[in-house]
Amino acid sequence: MSPAPDPALFDKVVNLCKRRGFVFPSAEIYGGFRSTYDYGPVGVLLLRNVKDAWWRSMVQLRHDIVGLDAAILSPPAIWEASGHLKNFTDPLVDCRKCRERFRLDKLDDPDECPNCHAKGSFTEARQFNLMFKTYAGPVEGTGAEVYLRPETAQGMFVNFKNVMETSRKRPPFGIAQIGKSFRNEITPGNFVFRTREFEQMEMEYFVPPDEAGKWYEYWRHERLRWYVDLGIPEDQLRLRAHDEEELSHYSSATSDVEFLFPWGWDELEGIANRTDYDLRQHAKASGESLDYFDQALGERYVPYVIEPAAGATRTAMAFLMAAYDEEEVAREGQGQGETRTVLRFHHRIAPYKVAVLPLSKKPELQEPANEVLGLLQQDYMCDYDETQAIGRRYRRQDELGTPFCVTIDFETLEDRAVTVRHRDSMAQDRVAIDGLADYLSPKLS
Ligand code: ATP
Repeated sequence: MSPAPDPALFDKVVNLCKRRGFVFPSAEIYGGFRSTYDYGPVGVLLLRNVKDAWWRSMVQLRHDIVGLDAAILSPPAIWEASGHLKNFTDPLVDCRKCRERFRLDKLDDPDECPNCHAKGSFTEARQFNLMFKTYAGPVEGTGAEVYLRPETAQGMFVNFKNVMETSRKRPPFGIAQIGKSFRNEITPGNFVFRTREFEQMEMEYFVPPDEAGKWYEYWRHERLRWYVDLGIPEDQLRLRAHDEEELSHYSSATSDVEFLFPWGWDELEGIANRTDYDLRQHAKASGESLDYFDQALGERYVPYVIEPAAGATRTAMAFLMAAYDEEEVAREGQGQGETRTVLRFHHRIAPYKVAVLPLSKKPELQEPANEVLGLLQQDYMCDYDETQAIGRRYRRQDELGTPFCVTIDFETLEDRAVTVRHRDSMAQDRVAIDGLADYLSPKLS
């Protein structure tokens, strides 16, 4: 049986994000800028770790996938050919009573306004294109229009030939890209779940047409496993296949990896069989041939594409939600009870791997503390904190999800050893400074 969503978790995580420097509302000193967020000192590390973990599994640990970093600004010709100018729309309705705007396909009841609860108050649905348009150069007008990409995928399709020719890859092979995408969402919301500016992690896997079904199954399961391997409990994840009417204009089959968010199951990633739609469209519109001649088979074909498309920002939020925990504990060193909030991140996702904490600000402790910091910084992102009682500093690191705290105390001056405190069990070990790297390495690699 799957667990129930926990609506209270949402506010707890959003508050912690602000309090500890994960995520700030954008332009806050000007009253904020609706549904736009900035990643603070800890959030930027979390987001980077999510992207690095994806890149590691998709590019570094494979021989069949290469990377790309394509431009965000793109000419209308790309979006004309891809079908986005015509089809990348959401149905928009306005409530005549309260004037709120909604995406028709996301309403629980298409006849009732979720804001004022009026029945039958919606206008006819209008198709609203989600792409941001701007102008390149000093003159605004026809001929100068450019678009901010709404997905990173098209960069991979228009570079298909360049990549194949330079990387010596042959189908089945993939092109992976991480980067910002922009969608003028009608109803952004749920914190960083749906924003107008967000980061995607997409991979286009080019395969012989008759192998598309096999690779679609392969990537559905591979991608689900990635989240489990990085610590999201299996019962908070599921694969959901799209119905026929839900499919995008380019897709013959799509499954979403869904996570149990505080408001219920919702999408983390879509795995789609994009067929040969995009390559054919770009070949037709550009006049370049985007097919492949398989010498072994003596056959020419346009590859099919299987695409796992994930959101980095949305995934970072899921990792935060899944890691959040509260437990009753004795106050460290005092025995009184208190509630401890702890982010039980997988060590690969945790923003800081180690916090270096001299017991006091006394100069004689700073020297060994700096030595330990300098040693560990070579391999790990470390935090350094020398003020407040040690118990409060441990709690702060728990809320950042730091797997290990290394405390330098006055005994260190005698024995050249430090106390290593484990985030999850709060157990403490005494470890020689000279053996610290060897002690931590198997736990953090
Ligand atoms: P939705 O149905 O939620 O609008 P989608 O199915 O259109 O999303 P895709 O085009 O498949 O989304 O994009 C791939 C991934 O990019 C999504 O699974 C999600 O993680 C991320 N993503 C898409 N739109 C947004 C957004 N507005 N804000 C944050 N992440 C997004």
